[in-house]
Amino acid sequence: MLICKYMNFYVMTLFPEMILQGMSQSITGRAMAKGAISVEAVNIRDYTNERHGHVDDAPYGGGAGMVMQAQPICDCYEALLERIRRQGAEKKPRVIYLTPQGRVFDQSYAEELAGEENLIFLCGHYEGVDERALTLLETENVSIGDYVLTGGELPAMVMMDCISRLVPGVLGKEESADIETFHDGLLEYPQYTRPEVYRDLRVPEILLSGHHGNVEKWRREQSIERTLRFRPDLLPKARLTEKEQAYLRGLLAEQELGGN
Ligand code: SAM
Repeated sequence: MLICKYMNFYVMTLFPEMILQGMSQSITGRAMAKGAISVEAVNIRDYTNERHGHVDDAPYGGGAGMVMQAQPICDCYEALLERIRRQGAEKKPRVIYLTPQGRVFDQSYAEELAGEENLIFLCGHYEGVDERALTLLETENVSIGDYVLTGGELPAMVMMDCISRLVPGVLGKEESADIETFHDGLLEYPQYTRPEVYRDLRVPEILLSGHHGNVEKWRREQSIERTLRFRPDLLPKARLTEKEQAYLRGLLAEQELGGN
């Protein structure tokens, strides 16, 4: 996985405060403060040529709602691109348009995008964006799932949050993104913390044993069991050792026996 040392996010939006308020909290806020990531929210409305400040209009051909116009988006993008170039960017940044019609975002796509230095996000609103703006900006169209939201701001924040976690220095411990759910195609093992007994429920004895090797083995097996139970669709692509594959075959055989 090729990861950039820092990441600059640029978000083209009609609601810049939403982006800045969301991203300036917690882990991403700390990452911004120490310079591991930067987040700039650019207000598309500042670029409209329309004298009343409008940025949208009714759809050609009729139908409900309003469509964001191409002109303010394209002008906003060109000004932004020029600025990024002047800051020394060697290549044209990828532009991501958030849309329920796009490729569904996942961890491997996040890992790919974490290799970039600059990323531009375009947030739609209302009925979406004039198709010509998407053509001119050569957008990659990305969805965060098969449901429809009111705007692209939350999806952009979902993506930036996920990508940020892969940028060095953003998470407290550099390794913590490496052992998580989806990293190697499995769900993560169950986690426990103090106290040892809570409402008669004990922490599994093995986690108190202090035997690192046994703990690791137990965790891997738990990951495989959980993935089989909750997300069996992930298993064909999971990275398993031969021993782990044998363990999975055992679980499947048990399942079959249980079903008969
Ligand atoms: N009329 C559009 C359609 O049917 O494809 C939906 C427009 S939606 C109400 C308004 C904006 O929200 C979209 O332009 C997009 O930026 C954003 N959006 C909504 N759902 C999304 C999703 N699942 N993933 C990414 N962006 C989404």
